[in-house]
Amino acid sequence: MINTSKLPNTPTSIFTVMSALATEHGAINLGQGFPDFPMDEELAVLAAKAITDGHNQYAPMAGLPALRESIAAKIHHLYGRSVSAADEITITPGGSYAIYTAFTTILQPGDEVILFEPAYDSYIPNILVNKAVPVKLKLEFPEYKIDWNKLREAINDRTKAIIINTPNNPTGSILSDEDMQTLQSILSGTKIFLISDEVYEHLTFDGKAHHSVLKYPDLFQRSFVCFSFGKVYNCTGWKLGYCVAPKALSAEFRKIHQFDAFSCFTPTQVALAEHLKKPERYLSLAPFLQKKRDLFLENMQGSGFDFLPSSGSYFVCATYKRISNMAAYDLSVHLTKTIGVATIPVSSFYIHGHDDKVLRFCFAKKEDTLMEAASRLKKLAL
Ligand code: PMP
Ligand code: GLN
Repeated sequence: MINTSKLPNTPTSIFTVMSALATEHGAINLGQGFPDFPMDEELAVLAAKAITDGHNQYAPMAGLPALRESIAAKIHHLYGRSVSAADEITITPGGSYAIYTAFTTILQPGDEVILFEPAYDSYIPNILVNKAVPVKLKLEFPEYKIDWNKLREAINDRTKAIIINTPNNPTGSILSDEDMQTLQSILSGTKIFLISDEVYEHLTFDGKAHHSVLKYPDLFQRSFVCFSFGKVYNCTGWKLGYCVAPKALSAEFRKIHQFDAFSCFTPTQVALAEHLKKPERYLSLAPFLQKKRDLFLENMQGSGFDFLPSSGSYFVCATYKRISNMAAYDLSVHLTKTIGVATIPVSSFYIHGHDDKVLRFCFAKKEDTLMEAASRLKKLAL
């Protein structure tokens, strides 16, 4: 009998709940963020070849050197920063693991971590497991912008770290260059760490740029910047990512990593080391997904949902006050069971269930899937 819990009040992740419900009811799954179209074929061939070529033993603890070299070259190309492949990049089993390991590297019991709600669902449990204290600031509906003055007010002697996420899940908002400069000036002269979740780095739309922490020297020297290959090459099931952090921080990060995963799946690292050398592969992702966003929005016209802007990520959010009074969670369940479309209630991205009556839709889906989902959802407005 288990009489102790590290997370006594933490429910099963909403992604697990909604995907299980979608499967049970044969619903179209616009909930959990994953593509329903095939991954990059060339990359799949390279991974299969890596297995048959015999790359099947442990990779080095920090990751395959050739992959870390390819990542360093990509960072230099995109963000103009020279990072050391040997000392500043660690390959991890996914982006969430990188974030969890970063928290575990720096947090002591009682430390405060500032985060912004709605927040990706792993952040608060990661903080609580480390016996630290989440300090939540609200991104006010419907703009979901960071109020930098509120951040200034929240910082105190116990503030150990801040976590940001751009492009943002679930809101689809992105941080501008001005936002990043402001954050840099707020943190300047402090010992506060920054964890930057940039798993959607290649998914910015309408000509907008991604402003990585890697572009800002005073931010980077205090940062763990976390990425995921799953989102870049449409292979979320690969669970491979990486953390970029200055040498001293990476050394501490690796102390935790070496006794957790130790190292990651070798064949996909071999494949990615090669594939990453083709920038056109990751640079074509944004226009490809933007087309899907636009197709979905076009087909949802007349649905009664009011869509909020999505400048990045796999997601677009909508309010539904014109068609239903239900709580977002209840409506998500209802739509899955009766209309046959699963979504994610944005209320689940607040630890205490704040509800602005917003649903999140994943548009990383085939055109047919999006059109069929839209036609089912439109029935609600009738
Ligand atoms: N951060 C955010 C904001 C995400 O949406 C996700 C889900 N892909 C992750 C982290 C985790 O990425 P991974 O699947 O590589 O662990
Ligand atoms: N990041 C994905 C989402 O937001 C889900 C990943 C997961 O299921 N943990 O939908």
